[in-house]
Amino acid sequence: MIDWTPLADLVEKYDRFLLTTHIRPDGDALGSEVGMAGLLRQKGKDVKVVNASRTPPRYDYLDPDGDLFTIYPDQVNAADLADREVAIILDLSAWKQLGDVADVIRAFKGPKVVVDHHVSQDDLGAIFLKDTTAEATGTLVMQAVKALGGTFTKEVSTGLLTAIAMDTGWFAHPNTKPSTLRSVAELIEAGADINGIHRDLFERNTLGRVKLMGETLASLQTEMDGRIAYTAISREDLERTGAIAADSEDLVDYTVSLRGVEVGVLFIEQARGGVKASLRSRTGLDCAKLAGLLGGGGHRAAAGLTLADDLPTSIERVLAIVRSALDPATAGAQS
Ligand code: 5GP
Ligand code: MN
Repeated sequence: MIDWTPLADLVEKYDRFLLTTHIRPDGDALGSEVGMAGLLRQKGKDVKVVNASRTPPRYDYLDPDGDLFTIYPDQVNAADLADREVAIILDLSAWKQLGDVADVIRAFKGPKVVVDHHVSQDDLGAIFLKDTTAEATGTLVMQAVKALGGTFTKEVSTGLLTAIAMDTGWFAHPNTKPSTLRSVAELIEAGADINGIHRDLFERNTLGRVKLMGETLASLQTEMDGRIAYTAISREDLERTGAIAADSEDLVDYTVSLRGVEVGVLFIEQARGGVKASLRSRTGLDCAKLAGLLGGGGHRAAAGLTLADDLPTSIERVLAIVRSALDPATAGAQS
């Protein structure tokens, strides 16, 4: 259990807060921001939420007025943030995960706090309020709301339920615990509309996303007798299907939906060049460690990394590492 006194002290002492989260933000990242922003505003604080990536449209319901999430450097610049006294970094502990906001955090003069549940960790020069056993950063924000005497408004509860639901694969991944469902029950009692949230996330797909899903599934490949499954999304795939980059969120889950798969990987060619790889394991193999070998990180069962190489080279580099992790003796022969 985290001791929230350092956060309470900062809330006591300062008025102007900056919140941020990781690039390619997911439900936990954005929902945790909604929860923390709500808590701080209840305490009368001036809060700016600044992210390096645009909010995927499926999460629009978290920011119905479109004035919570702002994008750096497109919508806010360094001068806009000069008055911020405290920076709270949610759902990440690695410089790379900050994207362009890393510059803001590096130059930040005031206290910095990280609220996170990832195993991988860089020295961000911050106070770490971390629990790697938590299923979601949203769970930690929920604790913070209680510790600081905040209220679970409908808005806060909606954000936190989104966070916990998405990081546990809607209460199905191995990180789901009895306490997960107790937390969710509390959030529903406080006003979160679980069915409405699920509908917003899964029944408001664009045709582009569904077509991308189809193509991604159609090009799924396996090797090592089906122990590895992988698929890739090129920039051309996005154009042809009319999907956007954010539409690839959680498509990696299909790789590990195959019977017998131990490790699944989704490769996504990035607009700015390079390739993002998402790794998932279903047998306890440590994805964070594997991703770490190529400069990435994350959790045991889910991790990611970015390479500067082209798609075929990236696929080869990542698969080589996965093969040797699964079968050190025959790794050479496979590639
Ligand atoms: P995803 O593959 O869904 O982007 O990420 C899986 C998990 O790994 C998430 O918790 C995400 O924050 C983390 N992750 C993804 N990419 C990176 C990376 O490049 N570095 C680090 N440290 N973590 C990452
Ligand atoms: Mn998370």
